[in-house]
Amino acid sequence: MSERAAPFYCPYCGDEDLRPSEQGHGAWECAACNRAFQLKFLGLLARGLQHDTTGGDRK
Ligand SMILES: [Zn+2]
Repeated sequence: MSERAAPFYCPYCGDEDLRPSEQGHGAWECAACNRAFQLKFLGLLARGLQHDTTGGDRK
């Protein structure tokens, strides 16, 4: 897996005009709303990648 995970949309304004920031790894800047943010990979979920198709709604 690559270190560079590229966001497609700004999480704040939804714009696509993103560019890598010099603030550090995984840092991006949005040219539309002038925000800088950072993506961080936290790890894989223990439950895996399968979708919840059981509709488990029991209490
Ligand atoms: Zn933005």
